[in-house]
Amino acid sequence: MSERPAIEFIDLKAQRQHIGKAMDEAILKVVHDGNYILGQQVQEFEAGLAAFCGAKHAIGVANGTDALILVLEALGIGPGDAVICPSFTFAATAEVVAWMGATPVFAEIDEATYNIDPKSLGAALETAKQHKLNPRALISVDLFGQACDYEPIEAFCKQNGLVLISDSAQGYGARYKGRVAGAIGDFATTSFFPAKPLGCYGDGGAILTDNDEHAALLMSLRFHGKGSYKYDNVRVGVNSRLDTIQAAVLIEKLKVYAEEIEKRQVVAQRYTAALKDVVVTPHVMADCVSTWAQYTIRVAADRRDAFQAALKAKGVPTTVYYPKPLHQQTAYKHYPVAGNGLPISERVAQEVVALPMHPYLDEETQDYIIAQVLEALAAPAAAVA
Ligand SMILES: *Cc1c(COP(=O)(O)O)cnc(C)c1O
Repeated sequence: MSERPAIEFIDLKAQRQHIGKAMDEAILKVVHDGNYILGQQVQEFEAGLAAFCGAKHAIGVANGTDALILVLEALGIGPGDAVICPSFTFAATAEVVAWMGATPVFAEIDEATYNIDPKSLGAALETAKQHKLNPRALISVDLFGQACDYEPIEAFCKQNGLVLISDSAQGYGARYKGRVAGAIGDFATTSFFPAKPLGCYGDGGAILTDNDEHAALLMSLRFHGKGSYKYDNVRVGVNSRLDTIQAAVLIEKLKVYAEEIEKRQVVAQRYTAALKDVVVTPHVMADCVSTWAQYTIRVAADRRDAFQAALKAKGVPTTVYYPKPLHQQTAYKHYPVAGNGLPISERVAQEVVALPMHPYLDEETQDYIIAQVLEALAAPAAAVA
């Protein structure tokens, strides 16, 4: 095998070849200007972020986890309250509920999209009531970049008086039936962790909402509960602001984000065309566009370790998102689950594996990855085990 450059799972250096210079200048400008906290770039980025998805307000915060916590704080969610969420997700989704002293109630996912199954919501609500909890909100997760099936979810929330919080850390900018993730739900939150589709060069996050009062409340909460000025404290808050340097980075990244989402479609379509007959490839719902935070395939549970090892030996990195659903994790297993358990979440967690995915994955490298995937899948079970 000829020497090839190491394949990155998410190649942030490749992006720098395109926008690195503008970004470095933007960062240096902040360094020279000296407005490190809530400099004008933060407002400029917030306006751009809101406009991109069509939300009225965007509030930059320190990270995607804080974004969720601040929404729950703004809603006064705490002990005795239940928040419905999926179990097959990153820990932050349920962590924030537990952190606020409320109770996450885990719902089942749809086997084709891995997103929360609207059909599981009724059982989750029943479970919350059986536990004598007050159901307050639902946190949906746009997993791997695909928006949830929001029409039935919105109808359910409306019917049952639940606030809909869309955790779009992976799916900000995804399309759902003519709408854009970030502008779906009573609140949407996102993360700018470097590996997310829209990432910065450190930690960052944002909350999006159309509600003027909630937006004002969230701006106060992220800044020690400030009132009319910095040293006027009208409520208890925290320090959770988006850094000016990160906002400067994000302004440059947002300029190419739509184009990058397009590039990700091309990469995803090439994977799917090459792999769909031999393995379970991602299912994107009709009239929807994923941001492809991950390109996740599924292999037999008893072969996944060998599959990953075979690819690793060929220089192809893979990752499992997520190896264990939250309701099976030590920190969360005592929380209630909808109905009689979550067999789909449990099964899927044993089978999923994500392939390298980023907008700058060139065809030659992708063809190499595809060839190695096909070879690893073709190996007899005994030989790869
Ligand atoms: C990354 C992520 C978060 C948390 O974002 P941070 O910025 O790392 O705090 C929350 N929810 C989901 C689904 C995520 O993928």
